[in-house]
Amino acid sequence: MSEDVDLPENHPRYESLLTRHRIEAGVDRGITSRQGLIAQGRGEAFDYLLGERTIDSADAAERAAAAYLLSAEHAVVSVNGNAAALVPGELVELSEVTGAALEVNLFNRTEKRIEAIADYLREHGATDVKGLTADGRIPGLDHERAKVDADGIGAADVVLVPLEDGDRAEALGEMGKTELVVDLNPRSRSAEVATVPIIDNIIRAIPTITEHARDLRGDPDAQQAAIDAFDADSALTEAERTIREGDLE
Ligand code: ATP
Repeated sequence: MSEDVDLPENHPRYESLLTRHRIEAGVDRGITSRQGLIAQGRGEAFDYLLGERTIDSADAAERAAAAYLLSAEHAVVSVNGNAAALVPGELVELSEVTGAALEVNLFNRTEKRIEAIADYLREHGATDVKGLTADGRIPGLDHERAKVDADGIGAADVVLVPLEDGDRAEALGEMGKTELVVDLNPRSRSAEVATVPIIDNIIRAIPTITEHARDLRGDPDAQQAAIDAFDADSALTEAERTIREGDLE
């Protein structure tokens, strides 16, 4: 990624430094909001407590998420300013492997930021980016927060929402959508209302979902098995237990 600085890969906090740098560059490019900087800080604290690794229950969630995306009628991956800054190419790849559409969807919505994110995704190979029409509404939310594309998130049966705000996650769930949420805080409302809470850093989560999708593609029985094997409550409990009891290095 052109914005990446020269960080020594053997630095003990390499991944965290790279992440910070990408978010900072995202703010400079008008992709990430200043609020996004705060969200990142909160995420980092949880990641540190999780040992900055994908725990087994998160891997199972990532496999189930891949299965839901592949078996959906109409899957959409929602992209906000933090997700775009951190994993733009990885989101495009996930969309290609699963057939899910990409839709820019912002908590602090401005047309300028939506355009900047859509451009950034196109620079990373996206051919069709939704979110610019905004002709659909999520019931129960105030005007700006409610906007979605009618033929995107509006019509989706399965939505992957990385780092979603709790109110919106709840409202999407009430619309009957299957929600796949990436959030490092197992107690966030978004994680609690998700069909599949993925308690992992988005940096690790998106490529792992893609890897599982490659493995599950074309095999409906294996997809169903991954969905049946996953239990949201135990995944949340397991993540919280790891955070509370984990060994800090
Ligand atoms: P909620 O309304 O869901 O309770 P919140 O207001 O607590 O959310 P925000 O600060 O809006 O949360 O959002 C940030 C959320 O995203 C936090 O729960 C944080 O742990 C998570 N987060 C931040 N960075 C990452 C990341 N890189 N990967 C995964 N999750 C992240």
